[in-house]
Amino acid sequence: MKPNSVILLIIDGVGDLPTPKTALQAAKKPNMDKLAAEGITGMFSPLGRGIVPGSDTSHLQIFGYEPEVFYPGRGPLEALGIGMELKPGDIAFRTNFGTAKDNKLVDRRAGRIQTEEAQPLQKYLSTKIDDVEIIFRASVDHRGAVIFRGPGLSRHVSDTDPHETGELVKAIPLDNTPEAEKTAKILNKYMEFSMNALGNAEENKLREKNKKLPANILLLRGAGEYREVPSFIERFSIEAACVAGGALYCGVSKYIGMDVFRLPKKNNVEIIREKAVAAAKAAEKYELVFLHVKGCDNCGHDGDFKGKKEMIEKIDKEVIPFIKKSGASIIITGDHSTPVSWKAHSGHEVPILIWSKEERYDKVKKFDELNCMNGGLGHINGCDIMPLILNILKKAEKYGS
Ligand code: ZN
Ligand code: ZN
Repeated sequence: MKPNSVILLIIDGVGDLPTPKTALQAAKKPNMDKLAAEGITGMFSPLGRGIVPGSDTSHLQIFGYEPEVFYPGRGPLEALGIGMELKPGDIAFRTNFGTAKDNKLVDRRAGRIQTEEAQPLQKYLSTKIDDVEIIFRASVDHRGAVIFRGPGLSRHVSDTDPHETGELVKAIPLDNTPEAEKTAKILNKYMEFSMNALGNAEENKLREKNKKLPANILLLRGAGEYREVPSFIERFSIEAACVAGGALYCGVSKYIGMDVFRLPKKNNVEIIREKAVAAAKAAEKYELVFLHVKGCDNCGHDGDFKGKKEMIEKIDKEVIPFIKKSGASIIITGDHSTPVSWKAHSGHEVPILIWSKEERYDKVKKFDELNCMNGGLGHINGCDIMPLILNILKKAEKYGS
């Protein structure tokens, strides 16, 4: 039987500052505006007023997992998102293939190495150092993740990714425990191991012959420790699924026990219509479907106003009609603002709308930062989202008798 369901569309980094309009104000988006006119709107601070969210912590909070309690660090979320299996106590990192020359980092992305060129390098990079098993997996382009599995490890270690070209850096322990010291030591040994293995790789000799930058160093960052957390169904008694492309969003969803349908970019283009169709289909079976669209955040980081506006128009055309047809209630918001004038995340609120026959409507007619300030939801925080969803689904427990 088809459940009463909610599709939660998160448009990453959609909020903005007026320059002189915001991208949402400038975009032609008749479908979203219709949902706003028929629904209820407001302004949303995922982690609280003025707090600048990361995408990872914001999404955890949206799903009712307070980051102070449940955030494991970025590494494990990325590793889960690319399909790696983790065990409690594993230390995981995000990785980049880079190019080093004369002991200096000359490119953080190995000349923007492509997925099909990076995948064959994967086979060189899993190993065992002392009593620690190291498991590496390449994902998309220069990206990947690595797991350290063994006794006495800690997530309190610095990155071996210097985050800019120039001097290479060594990992250092970030506290004075023997665990952090051991992990930093293994990390530095692994850095040497990877430089040797990649330096001798046939694939890299061929790259150099073809005048491409060799992927001869693996840079690690974002250490985190994996642990098991109570699943979404245990905590909220609703079946939930995620439809996303980016590893992080799939990883967050897997971490909290949602079913994940991963639709990564094709030829570097985000395939938003397929995502919308998949979300609508998932809403036939799941009570909550989390649909993630990334593009607006990238445009915000690039300071690309036109790109952000066009992405919103594309979402309006290629996502909204499909999810609306599903008959599910719809919630649209973002995980934070990424103003084009800042080229970075900011602590400004994001507009939110709820379109549901189980919810009220207000007088707001357009979905943007200025109009939604007048909406009936008022100003809400991340911790309000799950109660609102449970109420719409009629799954909220009565408080008192
Ligand atoms: Zn984000
Ligand atoms: Zn971002």
